[in-house]
Amino acid sequence: MNFIIKNIKSFALYELFLGMFLTLKYMFKSKVTINYPHEKGPLSPRFRGEHALRRYPNGEERCIACKLCEAVCPAQAITIDAEPREDGSRRTTRYDIDMSKCIYCGLCQESCPVDAIVEGPNFEFATETREELMYNKEKLLSNGDKWEYEISQNLELDSPYR
Ligand code: SF4
Ligand code: SF4
Repeated sequence: MNFIIKNIKSFALYELFLGMFLTLKYMFKSKVTINYPHEKGPLSPRFRGEHALRRYPNGEERCIACKLCEAVCPAQAITIDAEPREDGSRRTTRYDIDMSKCIYCGLCQESCPVDAIVEGPNFEFATETREELMYNKEKLLSNGDKWEYEISQNLELDSPYR
């Protein structure tokens, strides 16, 4: 009996029509894929992406060279040198992050008392060489300038939970 049913199904192209029915069914459903990189999915305000050093609205660097981020970094990816300025304020002369060591734990951001070092929303920073992943202070500050709007929005959204 099974043999007869199987042959009838084969002659009637049952599997073929079943497959076409499924194709037709999913043609009218909303898509679960997006056309990356032209379209991007939503990101959490807590997303931990590329690092940035932020400034105050008057352009002054936020970082006060307390080195808490350097001390807390479990990957020892951060290197900071600092000197006092003529006005007595303390600022970094060197702020490097070896992004090839970083594990994106977010502890540097959590430890910073002035919200200077942050992990921004940018995840598109793949490089072709390791050298390009050695970020210096200039690169981190330019990331901060570029992403300040998105970073401040994310910090604001997350502030009730901190
Ligand atoms: S995210 Fe974690 S591993 Fe990366 S620099 Fe910050 S503290 Fe270090
Ligand atoms: S980024 Fe923040 S935690 Fe790190 S040295 Fe500067 S002020 Fe301190």
